[in-house]
This record gives sequence, C-alpha cells and structure tokens, in this order.
Amino acid sequence: MAKTILVVAAHADDEALGCGGTIAKHTSAGDAVHVIFLTDGVGARSDSSLGAIDAVARNSASVAALKVLGVPEANVTTFSFPDNALDSLPRLEIVKAVESVVALVQPEIVYTHHAGDLNVDHRYAFEATMTACRPQPGCCVREIYSFEVASSTGWAGASCEHAFIPTRFVNIETEMEQKMQALKAYSEEMREFPHARSLRAVETLALYRGSQVGLNAAEAFVVERSIQL
Ligand SMILES: [Zn+2]
Repeated sequence: MAKTILVVAAHADDEALGCGGTIAKHTSAGDAVHVIFLTDGVGARSDSSLGAIDAVARNSASVAALKVLGVPEANVTTFSFPDNALDSLPRLEIVKAVESVVALVQPEIVYTHHAGDLNVDHRYAFEATMTACRPQPGCCVREIYSFEVASSTGWAGASCEHAFIPTRFVNIETEMEQKMQALKAYSEEMREFPHARSLRAVETLALYRGSQVGLNAAEAFVVERSIQL
C-alpha cells in the first residue's frame, strides 16, 4: 500500500544529500513524498565562500532536483526562516511550522536531520521534527529516521554529544543516478573534490555506506523511532 512520507530539511539540498536515493525509492514505489524546507537559503552560510544565493535560483534548483527524485512541486513547502540562524527564533515557531504540514499531509514515515550535526539549523530541524511528531495517541507518524548530510554530520567534533552511528541502511544502487542528478541541480551548492560536499565525495559515501552492509550503495540513517502496529 502506498505510504505518505515527509522529509524535513533545513535547506534546499539537504534532502538530496541526506536521502535523495531513498526519496527516489519511495516515489518509484508509488509513495507520496512531501518535503519541507525550513529556510529559503538566503543569507550567509557557514561556508562563506558560497555567498548569498538568490532565493529564486535556489527554489528553481530544488524544484529541478525534486523532479528528478519524483516529487512534484505541489508537495514542497518552503518556510522563510533565516538561514543559519534557526536558533535565533522561538523554538515554538519552528515546531508549529512543521506541525502544520504534519497535520495536513499525515505522514507515516518522517526523515530529518541528525541531532549531532555541526550546522545549527540541522540541529533545530531535528528538534522541531521530534517535537512536532511526538507520539501522542492517534499520531500518524510511525517511523522517524535521521539522515547524514555531507559537510555537516561528518564535521561535528569528537566531543559532539550525538555521534552518527547508522542503524538503518537503504539500498540505493538503482537510485544512485537519480541522487547524483538531483545534486547536479544544486551545482551552486556543490564543491570540488576533496570537499565533503562534492559529487565524488557524496558518491564515495554512498559506496562506503553500502559496503558496511554488503550492498553496492546505500544511504544510512539512525532510527529515531519506529512503531510497529
Ligand atoms: Zn543544510
């Protein structure tokens, strides 16, 4: 039976980096995938060489990337919270934003950032998602998985409270090409190898995650919650 999926990403490109192959796998299976971008990606990023990227260009890049992954534009909700400054907002504001989409689309499976990421927006996205999807009686969300984002998850320091130790691996051998095509739509965000956010590094990470579990390519997740009925 087709499922409803929600991906909560801080920035446009996080969804492709973190779970692009998995999104493609869901849409190929007939699942409805919805995506939230909490920020419009305008403003200073931690990587200042990126500079300010026009919101319109960012939006058209995300539309193109998600099209490759099988997600229609109508399934995308972009909030305009400030980039790299989600910690400057009342937490409740971000929670309410995520809650509004959860209430609307009633997802069964939710993907979001990992709590230990270096990027503050990622950490707040995780927290807001867990709060918005708290398992009260009647909650539609049965599974929550956190993904890794190259150039943020791997850049957290050794003293980070939450190490990314994956407990779920999704075979993306068939969807690998779609993931790479989606990332090419975000060419403004991508860097040259050996930057962690380069096409070659992302592909290498997928090969490595696959090899950890005897697959040719995989995306890795931490199971934040899984409820079997
Ligand atoms: Zn991000």
